[in-house]
Amino acid sequence: MRVKINNSILELVEGDITQQDTEAIVNAANSGLRGGSGVDGAIHRAGGPQIMEECRKIGGCPTGGAVITTGGRLKARYVVHTVGPIYHGGGKGEAELLASAYRNSLTIALDKGVGSIAFPSISTGAYGYPLEEAARIALKAVIDFLNEHGEITLIRFVLFGPAAYKAYADELKFLKGSTKKV
Ligand code: ADP
Repeated sequence: MRVKINNSILELVEGDITQQDTEAIVNAANSGLRGGSGVDGAIHRAGGPQIMEECRKIGGCPTGGAVITTGGRLKARYVVHTVGPIYHGGGKGEAELLASAYRNSLTIALDKGVGSIAFPSISTGAYGYPLEEAARIALKAVIDFLNEHGEITLIRFVLFGPAAYKAYADELKFLKGSTKKV
C-alpha cells in the first residue's frame, strides 16, 4: 500500500528490512547498542562487523533517541539505531517515547542528507508493544514529519509477516483522511 503525503511517498510492504535499497534502514536497537535478537540480530548479521564497531564507539542510546552508523555490507548506506520503549501497560510514557523514536530517527537521517528510509515496526517484538497501537503512533509520527520535511521523499515500513502488515494497512486507511492514494 502507498499513499502520497505532499510530494513524498509513504509505503507499506511485507518483507525483510535487511534487503531494502533505501538510503537508510532503521534498527530497533537496545540502549546499550549491543545487538540482540529480532530485527537487531538480522541487521548485524546481514551488514557485517563494521556496524557493531561503530556502535561500540558510540556506546549507547537512550530510549526514544537515535544514532546513525554505516550500513556496512547492506544495500543501505546507513543504519539508524533507535531504541523504542518496553511496553509496561501504556501508562509509563510509552506512546511519547515511541513517537520520539520515529521522529529522532528521521531527524538524524535528514541531517545526513538521506532521502529514503525504511522502518521496521519498532517495539512490537521483544518489547511487547501492542501492534495496533504501535501502528497508529508510528504512522502518525511519520506523517507529521513528512508534513514538515519534504526532503525525505520515501518512507517505507517493512512489516515482518501478514499480521503486522494488516495492522499497519488498516491503520493507514483509517488515518488517510488528509492523504491521497497513488
Ligand atoms: P523490539 O525489541 O523493538 O520489540 P524486535 O526486533 O523484537 O524489536 O521486533 C520489532 C519488529 O521487527 C517485530 O514486529 C518483528 O516481527 C520485526 N522483525 C524481525 N525481524 C525482521 C526483519 N528482518 N525485517 C523486518 N522486521 C523484522
